[in-house]
Amino acid sequence: MYRRRPGKQPSSHLVSKLRQQEALQRRCGPGTMAYSHALEQLKSGKSSGNTIAAQDCKYLVSISYRGLGNRILATASAFLYAMLTGRVLLVDPSNEMGELFCEPFPDTSWLLPPGFPLESYTNFSISTAESYGNMLRNKVIRTDAAGDVPAASQQLPAFSYVHLDHDATEQDNLFFCDEDQRVLRNISWLVMRTDSYIVPGLFLDKGFQDELARLFPEPDTVFHHISRYLFHPNNHVWGLVTRYYDAYLATARQSVGIQVRVFGSQPNSPELLEQITKCTQKQGLLPELLAADLQAPTPRGSPAAVRPASRAAKSKAVMVTCLKPWYYEELKSMYWEHATASGEVVAVHQPSHEEYQHFGARSHDHKACAEIYLLSLTDVLVTTGRSTFGYVAQGLAGVRPWVMYKPTNGSAVPDPPCGRDVSMEPCFHMPPSYDCRLKKWRDPTKDVPYIQHCDDAFWGLKLV
Ligand code: GDP
Repeated sequence: MYRRRPGKQPSSHLVSKLRQQEALQRRCGPGTMAYSHALEQLKSGKSSGNTIAAQDCKYLVSISYRGLGNRILATASAFLYAMLTGRVLLVDPSNEMGELFCEPFPDTSWLLPPGFPLESYTNFSISTAESYGNMLRNKVIRTDAAGDVPAASQQLPAFSYVHLDHDATEQDNLFFCDEDQRVLRNISWLVMRTDSYIVPGLFLDKGFQDELARLFPEPDTVFHHISRYLFHPNNHVWGLVTRYYDAYLATARQSVGIQVRVFGSQPNSPELLEQITKCTQKQGLLPELLAADLQAPTPRGSPAAVRPASRAAKSKAVMVTCLKPWYYEELKSMYWEHATASGEVVAVHQPSHEEYQHFGARSHDHKACAEIYLLSLTDVLVTTGRSTFGYVAQGLAGVRPWVMYKPTNGSAVPDPPCGRDVSMEPCFHMPPSYDCRLKKWRDPTKDVPYIQHCDDAFWGLKLV
């Protein structure tokens, strides 16, 4: 009800798949006999054989780390992978992931309970011996029939760690290949670390393509549907969202969200401020200032002194989100000290300024979560390129934002300062560069029509 724009309709296949996933989470989730049995097997270190029966429960543990935007993208990706492969999704509750959202699956929990036998799973990294890439390299697992042990009859481990972090190796990235998925399918426990939106990579896997096409007839809505299904702010965060919305955004004719991603150590940048004003004014998102008002004192009776007939009808509420207050203060002063050419009234607000990114701080993450959600409630969205914080807001909103590009020429304001994103989907920043079928490097955008490079990160991939 807080959104003025309706979201996209999910396909009936997606809806029925979600119900199936919920049933699976209930049947195999924490507290069930099946879960206890699977844990015992994991403790024993042995797999249940080289093929898993359809009724057996399989699990995907998603590790939560880095900023909130990263964590949300990683969880959404893990959920889609779990749904595609019939696995129960369990989320690592550290880093506040257990403190921000409601349980998405009725009558069960998606949080990995305490006492998980792989004690150091949160420290798994590129060098973990059980990573899928390392097990392939060390021939603990084979995907082909070459060698002494044919692939189909090999003894598989009880778990494998899927390392899809920024430093993933070529072997780690074989995860996105169909023949590797045929092996992974038979490993009961997977633990996945990624800070990215890996979904475009799943669309590259031939084995998933038919099902993905049925689930998402519009490929640019994947994150939109998954995020709206999965991430419901808990009561505390929801209070932050609704109180702020009602106080500052609800009555404006139009609300504009501007996400300004800066870092704690970065000085305030007049160039970035110029980029924000140029972008918003050139694209008609915010009004230009009245020229006469900028140059000289306004004579009595001139248009600037005339009150708009209905001020509420012409009002815009701008919500800036940023770690620093300076950009918001400058914008606010600008629209206080000068009249607008259109006669519109512009109110500028910012919910918080946390100064720098805190780790493991509950109230900081609550605010970040509320602000992402609030951005998604605005009518028009301006984001900072390459920021996962902005990606989540645009996906929840279901809009193509105006993206402020990163400067490529020192700190000079990019020209154009921003552009309309090609789709509402997040960008996969670290896609695999290997073509599984051709067994060599190939640009995937050449083969898959609904995958493109990202405007804000040309090496990245996104669904369009
Ligand atoms: P990314 O680093 O831009 O991709 O976004 P992330 O969300 O992954 O990490 C940035 C983190 O810094 C956030 O999760 C917040 O903890 C903090 N942060 C950055 N910008 C803001 C902001 O505008 N508001 C708030 N409250 N926190 C922010």
